[in-house]
Amino acid sequence: MLKGSCCCGTVQFEVEAAPTMLGTCHCSRCRKVGASTFAFVAREHFHLLEGEGSIATYAPEEGYLYARDFCSKCGSALGEMTGTSQSFPVPANCFDDPLDLTVAFHEFVDEKPAWLPICDDAKQFARHPEQP
Ligand SMILES: [Zn+2]
Ligand SMILES: [Zn+2]
Repeated sequence: MLKGSCCCGTVQFEVEAAPTMLGTCHCSRCRKVGASTFAFVAREHFHLLEGEGSIATYAPEEGYLYARDFCSKCGSALGEMTGTSQSFPVPANCFDDPLDLTVAFHEFVDEKPAWLPICDDAKQFARHPEQP
């Protein structure tokens, strides 16, 4: 069981089974919401313990697939906790317990700013991993 929370602690969650993959997205949207490295969590293993009423959602604009949840008190990005997909991203930096994983891939490398060098050997994709 892994625990996680937002910066102010209002939102608390736990994940029954450790995530099996980490990925870093370099798109401008992830960069601006302040979360780029995500753990992919199965919906059935995810439990929101506290703070549901404090989660706000930024719905995707036309042409984008993914919504972004965040804590309405402290602004922490929370991935897509309130969505309906079977597997969804939770920002790696929301976990309080250590994740025994390293980043498996980088996506949207085409949008990566020059000030953020990639310092590992993980696979890189110009956009989504399906379109290397
Ligand atoms: Zn918070
Ligand atoms: Zn992104």
